[in-house]
Amino acid sequence: MPAPELTDNQAGDAPVKASHFIRDIILEDLRTNKYGGRVHTRFPPEPNGYLHIGHAKSICMNFGLAQEFGGKCNLRFDDTNPCKEEVEYVESIIQDVRWLGFDWEDRLFYASDYFDQLYEWAIQLIKAGKAYVCDLSADQVREYRGTLTEPGRESPHRNRSIAENLDLFERMRNGEFPDGARTLRAKVDMASANLNLRDPVMYRILHASHHRSGDKWCIYPMYDYTHGQSDSIERITHSICTLEFEDHRPLYDWYIEQLGIYHPQQIEFARLNLTYTLLSKRKLLTLVQDGHVRGWNDPRMPTLSGIRRRGYTPEALRAFCDRIGVAKTNSIIEISLLEHFVREDLNKRVQRVMAVLRPLRVVVDNFPEGQVDQMEAVNNPEDAAMGVRTVPFSKTLYIEQDDFREDPPKQYFRLAPGREVRLRYGYFIKCTGVVKDPQTGEVVELHCTYDPATRGGNAPDGRKVKSTIHWVSAAHAIDAEVRLYDTLFSRENPGEGVEDFTVDLNPKSLEVVSQAKLEPGLASAAPGDRFQFERLGYFCVDPDSAPGKPVFNRTVALRDTWAKIEKAQKEKSGA
Ligand code: ATP
Ligand code: MG
Repeated sequence: MPAPELTDNQAGDAPVKASHFIRDIILEDLRTNKYGGRVHTRFPPEPNGYLHIGHAKSICMNFGLAQEFGGKCNLRFDDTNPCKEEVEYVESIIQDVRWLGFDWEDRLFYASDYFDQLYEWAIQLIKAGKAYVCDLSADQVREYRGTLTEPGRESPHRNRSIAENLDLFERMRNGEFPDGARTLRAKVDMASANLNLRDPVMYRILHASHHRSGDKWCIYPMYDYTHGQSDSIERITHSICTLEFEDHRPLYDWYIEQLGIYHPQQIEFARLNLTYTLLSKRKLLTLVQDGHVRGWNDPRMPTLSGIRRRGYTPEALRAFCDRIGVAKTNSIIEISLLEHFVREDLNKRVQRVMAVLRPLRVVVDNFPEGQVDQMEAVNNPEDAAMGVRTVPFSKTLYIEQDDFREDPPKQYFRLAPGREVRLRYGYFIKCTGVVKDPQTGEVVELHCTYDPATRGGNAPDGRKVKSTIHWVSAAHAIDAEVRLYDTLFSRENPGEGVEDFTVDLNPKSLEVVSQAKLEPGLASAAPGDRFQFERLGYFCVDPDSAPGKPVFNRTVALRDTWAKIEKAQKEKSGA
């Protein structure tokens, strides 16, 4: 057995991964030399939508296991449905798997490349009396299939002669019949308890152009007739898929056994479900098509392109996938666990800056007019190597509206009339006056004094303040639009028990703050750059930014609900 290759996050200080049943199966197969020491997996998306976080679990597992055991992992498009598939999806999927950090080398495959082989195998099955051309319509096929409690009925065409089947199938291929007129079906067992084995359709007539094979075919193989044989052609050892395919496995096995070809081993695992999130390409497509979001890469979408735009990192996603592991039973993971991994990753690596989302003007009355002090600020207290920068301090500043209360409640320690607070990396200031809009009564400006002796944040006389707030210099600040996101759905289990899942959409999933003020160093930030805005969260520059008009997405807020949950759990268990 080749030595397992260490991935970056295994080689580092990450704890050793807990094993799981799929890894155990592979270890056992290696021990018994079942595949001559080979481990060969694949990630097999259907290019009918963008990849989502659920797919990331499958990608990390397939590529991760291959890496771990010195094996290989293919990227294969299961592109059997020309009506729903598009080149746009193929390209986005390629980009997303790369972004996650995985490499299929020269093994990018398409099921459509196997159409000739699949056609030959269909003829082989007809000749063996195991497949027949059926003239029933789609509705009739469904009706004849029966139900879970009733056996199916045999098609009147089930016992056509081999010669007639060969002739009709060839004529199907030659385009002699309209869409839906006939199908090729496997002759398995109409009485089987497993509905998938009741003479499933292998080929349908579809006069449609395929994104790769063009107009070469007007009959297309069904997914179930294609998937297993594609794995066989690629000599996959472990065909890892989600639980809903467990009932299809007997059919995949049947095709492979009838054809007498190489037999991969299918292993099913539970799909990833996340609270407040839908992971179904069909439903995500509805959100895009009906304009509930601004496209597949809307930062609220659980698609990889959406969360990338929002500022999530591939490292965070991989760490999350490692942590959730793999199981045989379906469960729902808290979205806060994913957010926890995002924060943990960003905390270590991104620069901290000051930004004020809802500005309140502060005039420092005793600060000299026209003077600018350059204050030293630490870029990341977690990483001294990230160095320091300067931020300008002047007579007129902005602070967060929320950091001032005219009439502060009991536990409120921030600025209030007569109270002193620390400005981060600045001076102590004390509020001496409040200016209100005469019409609305709204506080529009504060007057303060500063203590020059507190530069850098401490008073030489040792007096304390209870709070530190962030600020920017009004004359130096740059304007920005900031997009704040909440979960796309307002219910933990969106769509459950309702006819139309869009009723669970969160009307407050996007809040646009158009007048934010940022420290001047951010003028050079480029799309994709990430920052922590002190006290507010992690933010990422959106591609909608234009020169002089940056747009930021909030990736995730700072409050780590997961850390709290975890702490509570630990305390409860006495750990
Ligand atoms: P959807 O139900 O969202 O349309 P799908 O399963 O039809 O997804 P595919 O393109 O066929 O989409 O998926 C490619 C691979 O990703 C399959 O092996 C599938 O089992 C796996 N996969 C899809 N969704 C999830 C999920 N939520 N968790 C884990 N794996 C998933
Ligand atoms: Mg699928």
